[in-house]
Amino acid sequence: MASREPGRWKPIDVKVHVSTGAGVDIHWADGHRSHYGFPFLRDHCPCALCNEERGREPARQAAQSPSGPSPLPLYKPRIIARAASAVGHYALQFDFSDGHSTGIYSFELLREICPCEACRAEGRGSTFKP
Ligand SMILES: [Zn+2]
Ligand SMILES: [Zn+2]
Repeated sequence: MASREPGRWKPIDVKVHVSTGAGVDIHWADGHRSHYGFPFLRDHCPCALCNEERGREPARQAAQSPSGPSPLPLYKPRIIARAASAVGHYALQFDFSDGHSTGIYSFELLREICPCEACRAEGRGSTFKP
């Protein structure tokens, strides 16, 4: 029953609250509902660049050396989406307020990273490993 074939996670209702900045609500075909804030989505951007950045994250947290090269500011302004669009029937794409827009969020990925308590309790959602 734990199969993960592509296309298993089908949304029946997707609401992207771009103007209010409230994030994304998805109602799934199996009855589950997910809510994602835009900063959360930005953090989980699946593009190659962000994957690479996340791979470095433990080192970044361990050593915040002031002398080392630090192109990434510690303070990040709250990220919202300036626009969102559907990619075919299988994914969403966001134009984030920091100018980043290369991530394609497939519904399978979105279901995988669902931040709700039930999904986190199942061991999904808290960590995303591509
Ligand atoms: Zn990215
Ligand atoms: Zn969930």
